[in-house]
Amino acid sequence: MTTYEQIFENNRKWVAEKRASDKDFFKKLARGQNPDFLYIGCSDSRVTAEELMGLRAGEVFVHRNIANIVSNTDLNAMSVINYAVIHLQVKHIVVCGHYYCGGVKAAMQNEDLGILNPWLRNIRDVYRLHKDELNNIKDNEARYKRLVELNTEEQCINIIKTAVLQKAYLKRGYPKVHAWVFDIRTGRLIDLEFDFHKKLDDIREIYDLGMEE
Ligand SMILES: [Zn+2]
Repeated sequence: MTTYEQIFENNRKWVAEKRASDKDFFKKLARGQNPDFLYIGCSDSRVTAEELMGLRAGEVFVHRNIANIVSNTDLNAMSVINYAVIHLQVKHIVVCGHYYCGGVKAAMQNEDLGILNPWLRNIRDVYRLHKDELNNIKDNEARYKRLVELNTEEQCINIIKTAVLQKAYLKRGYPKVHAWVFDIRTGRLIDLEFDFHKKLDDIREIYDLGMEE
């Protein structure tokens, strides 16, 4: 376990390494950010954003919460998406779930978890939407993993439901939304090959907010 003091020692080393590879690294960093990616992932300490993508400071805008939920009424997530799309003009929005997600597991159990109930209900709603498929999976672990994938895809759909995404995409042709799963047991990123164009068309049947003003 890392001690508290160790963090600052690590930071000193990191600064020295960055300066050694590029003496203007922090000068450039201070000029501003221009990331191509918005990453929305789980708060789980094992699932880091930059590290698993091999990206550096300044290359990805990040939002994390329990079970990578994108809730319509979450001012935090909605602000992040808004800022990333309108001001940073990111090219890609990624929702990255992960197998063995504690949030997803908790949502699969019939238990009152207090303040977590409304949050986990987002995942229970995903289960309800896909209950026929999920209930047909007899193996518990396989069902758990499939719910992680379906939850990730549903959060992508929640992004597509927003006016900010629809307007930006119709105007500029980006950002596209992607669903990934990080497999903790292998370290691999799996692209769920979320069909962005088809989902956008489906969603606009009912949630079309992309009309010109
Ligand atoms: Zn998680």
